[in-house]
Amino acid sequence: MTSSAHFPTVGVVGAGQLTRMMIEASARLNINIKLLAETPIDCAALISNNVEIGDYKNYDTLRKFCENIDVLTFDHEHVPLEHLKKLELQGVKIRPGIKALSCAQDKAIMRTTLSEAKLDMPRWAIVKNKEEIENFAAKIGWPLVIKSSVGGYDGKGVWIAQDITEVQKIIESPIKESSQWLVEERVNFKRELAVHVARSPHGQSVVYPVVQSTQVDGVCEEVIAPAPNLSDNHASQIQAIALKIAELLDVIGVFSVELFDLGDGKVLINELAMRPHNSGHWTIDGSNTSQFENHLRAILDLPLGSPSLTSPNTVMVNVLGGQFDDMYKPFMHCMARDPELKIHLYGKEVKLGRKVGHVNICGEKVSDLLERAHHAADYLTGKITE
Ligand code: ADP
Repeated sequence: MTSSAHFPTVGVVGAGQLTRMMIEASARLNINIKLLAETPIDCAALISNNVEIGDYKNYDTLRKFCENIDVLTFDHEHVPLEHLKKLELQGVKIRPGIKALSCAQDKAIMRTTLSEAKLDMPRWAIVKNKEEIENFAAKIGWPLVIKSSVGGYDGKGVWIAQDITEVQKIIESPIKESSQWLVEERVNFKRELAVHVARSPHGQSVVYPVVQSTQVDGVCEEVIAPAPNLSDNHASQIQAIALKIAELLDVIGVFSVELFDLGDGKVLINELAMRPHNSGHWTIDGSNTSQFENHLRAILDLPLGSPSLTSPNTVMVNVLGGQFDDMYKPFMHCMARDPELKIHLYGKEVKLGRKVGHVNICGEKVSDLLERAHHAADYLTGKITE
């Protein structure tokens, strides 16, 4: 018998980079991971010795996958809830739970649930057609943000309409899974913030420092941890919002809250992700316990690890696919230029604009860390050559 026999097996649906980084954390703790991947070359499947290939939308595939696991968790939020409800009735531990997942799957449910808890958000409405959007605009004014309530990610499924003539084009977009739309005021925010919480079935929670994230075309580009120029008081208020949501939705595992900072101590909740998140990748090098390790600890109901900082600041910059597909060649220059640089590549085929990795740098001075992290990300993708 191997020593692994005493250790639980976590079943993960989806085999993208989040799962790949979860596998790294699991290996140190000797926790077994079994994957349900769509293809054998999904980037987490490439580094796993326990992979089933199948369609996560098929109930029988999911049921069979759950036969020899201790808990079920996710790389993404698209597994049909009706399947998960049936599996739960059969005793499968679904983590996070159905209530939390429903808020992450459907932005309309998320807005409704958080409104009932009197949490501050952009003014919003659920609409079914152009006329209802026009009525909302009459109250709020243009421009408006129109969101597909289900199926969106990385800004896909989010549009800005300057006026009613733009609305028609948007609601004829290819995302048809939704029969309704979420429409919101366009918030004139000063910056975007994010905060991450790990919560276990025991109800133990730990909250990470609030970070500043910058999105370009809906895709996260850079994260600064902790968020610069945020008072302790304001940071604590934001952490308290995240902890309140964790209790409200009975979240198990790591989840993140993305917020708009309006300045003057005011924030509005943009959205929730019920899993480790891109804005939390800094924790791998910048925190005592990474979001991936704490996710595993939380879903297995182990005591949680400290989320405190390992150095005063950490900057994370995403590596987005560029013109060159040889990601190894730039290692020589990047590693020689900056021995403190932490490169994380996901083993994904390079495509223009695709998230293929990220870099982290920890240290003192944010402006210096930003320069070094952006240089590395740009050099790795061939955007700059020196
Ligand atoms: P996704 O689920 O694709 O990440 P989000 O709802 O987070 O979609 O929106 C993506 C980005 O669009 C946000 O990070 C923010 O920059 C911008 N955005 C979303 N909602 C609003 C809003 N109401 N006002 C202004 N900008 C918004």
